[in-house]
Amino acid sequence: MDFDLFVIGGGSAGVRCARISAGHGARVGVAEERHWGGTCVNIGCVPKKLLVQAGEYGGWAEDAAGFGWTMTKGSHDWGKLIAAKDREITRLEGIYRKLLNAAGARIFDGRATLVDAHTVEVNGERYTARNIVIATGGNPERPTIPGAELGIISDDAFYLKTMPRRVIMVGSGYIAVEFAGIFKALGAEVDLVYRQPLPLRGFDHDIRESMQEALEAQGIVLHPNSTPAKLEADGDMRILTLTDGRTLHADLVFFATGRKANVAGLGLDKVGVELNAKDAIKVDDGLRTTVPHIYAMGDVTDRINLTPVATAEGHALADTLFGNSPRNVSLRNIPSAVFTTPPVASVGLTEEQACAMSPVDIYLTKFTPMRHTLSGRGRKTTMKLVVDKATQKVVGAHMMGEDAAEIIQGIAIAVVMGATKADFDRTIGIHPTAAEEFVTLRTRTRTTDLAKAAE
Ligand code: NDP
Repeated sequence: MDFDLFVIGGGSAGVRCARISAGHGARVGVAEERHWGGTCVNIGCVPKKLLVQAGEYGGWAEDAAGFGWTMTKGSHDWGKLIAAKDREITRLEGIYRKLLNAAGARIFDGRATLVDAHTVEVNGERYTARNIVIATGGNPERPTIPGAELGIISDDAFYLKTMPRRVIMVGSGYIAVEFAGIFKALGAEVDLVYRQPLPLRGFDHDIRESMQEALEAQGIVLHPNSTPAKLEADGDMRILTLTDGRTLHADLVFFATGRKANVAGLGLDKVGVELNAKDAIKVDDGLRTTVPHIYAMGDVTDRINLTPVATAEGHALADTLFGNSPRNVSLRNIPSAVFTTPPVASVGLTEEQACAMSPVDIYLTKFTPMRHTLSGRGRKTTMKLVVDKATQKVVGAHMMGEDAAEIIQGIAIAVVMGATKADFDRTIGIHPTAAEEFVTLRTRTRTTDLAKAAE
C-alpha cells in the first residue's frame, strides 16, 4: 500500500484527521480540489464572523451617543472589507497547508475519486491506501423553483463585488438569519422570507420568538409562513413571487435553503459505500461506512453539521486508527451558536425535546442588557434553563443576547458534566454581567410535561 490513510477532502474534518494521523506516524495522503480548510475557513464560519463583526461596528457607533459621544457613523466600504477578509482567509488557508506539510502528510491539490475499496485516483495517478476517509463536506442547495439560478447561495455571498442595496433572504436557518443581519447592519434593506411561523426551526420556542422580535427590531422585514414560487429578472432587478401571489423586489435574492452532502462523482456506488435517506454517507458510531476500511466524517454524513464536530471526529478516528486510543465522538449536548446581532447560543435539549421525555422545570428571563439602558437600543436578552424535574439536572441552556456564544461555551461544560440546578445556584455570579443570570435564576417560570406542551 502507498499510504496507511488517504483522506479525500481538506476541510475541518479531513485536515484534522490527516494531520493527527501523520503525527502518530502513519503515511498519509490528503487531497483537496478547492480550498484547504474547506467551507468553514473559506466560505463559511470564519469569513461570516468577520462580516458579522463589520456590521457590529455600525451599531456601536450609533449606540455611542447614549454614552455621551458625538460621532457620525459614516459610510461603509464593502470592497475594503472583502479585500481585508480575503487577505485573512488566504493567510489561514496557507496555515492549513503548512500544518499538513509539517506533520508529514503528502498533500494533493486535485479531485480524488475512489477506484476500488483500497485505491484512489487523483490528478491522473492511482494510489493504494490501507484506510480511506471521505470528508468532502456539503454544498448549498437552491430550492427547485423556476429561476432559482438567478439567486445566489452562501458560496457567492463572500465574493460579491458590491454591497447590495436591497436583499431578499430565503430561509430562516443559521445562514439565512446570519446573512440577513449582516446585510442589514451594513446598510441594505432586507426581507426575510420563510415557511415557518417563527425563524430557526429546531431551536427552543422561546428563543425563536425572541429571534423574531430581534430581527424585527433590527428593521428586517419578516415574511413568515411564506414560500417562494418563482424568481424572475427584470434587468438587474430580481422579482420573487411567493406561492400566495405576493411579489417582492430586490437587487439580490439569496437562497439559504439548506445544504446537501457532497457525494456526487466520488465513485461511492462503484465500491459499495451506501447513502442514507438524506443522500449523505451512512456511518456507524465509529464513522465506518458500509465498506470496511472506508470511513466518512463531517458534513458529508449530514448528522450535526458543525465544524467542531467535524474536527472532533477527525481527531478521534486518527487516535483510533493510529494512536492506540480508540474512541467515538458523542453527538449529545453539542453547543452551537447563530451569529446574528445579538447572537443565539444553546446547548442540550429544547423545552419541547426535553418535556417529550419527562417533565421539566423551566427558568426563563428576559431583560434589557445594561449597555442598552443607556444606548436606548431596544434590544433584549433572553436566557433559559431547562431542568429535568426528577433529577434536577440542567438538560438545556439557551440564550439570545450579546456574547451568547461566549457564555454558552462555558455553560456547556456544566451541562456535559451533568450539573444540577443546585450546582448552578451555588455558583457565585460575576457582577455586573449578563452571564450571572444563569446562576441567579431562582424563580421557576413553569413546569412543563407532554400534556402541557400539547396545549
Ligand atoms: P438550515 O438547514 O439551518 O436551514 C434551511 C432553511 O431553508 C430552513 O429555514 C428551511 O425551512 C428553508 N428551506 C429549505 N428548503 C426550502 C425551500 N424549498 N423553500 C423555502 N425554504 C426552504 O440550513 P442553512 O443553509 O442555514 O445551514 C446549513 C447548515 O450549516 C446548518 O444546519 C448548520 O448545521 C450549518 N451552519 C452552522 C452555522 C453556525 O454554527 N453558526 C452557520 C451556518 C451554517 P424549514 O424550516 O421550513 O424547513
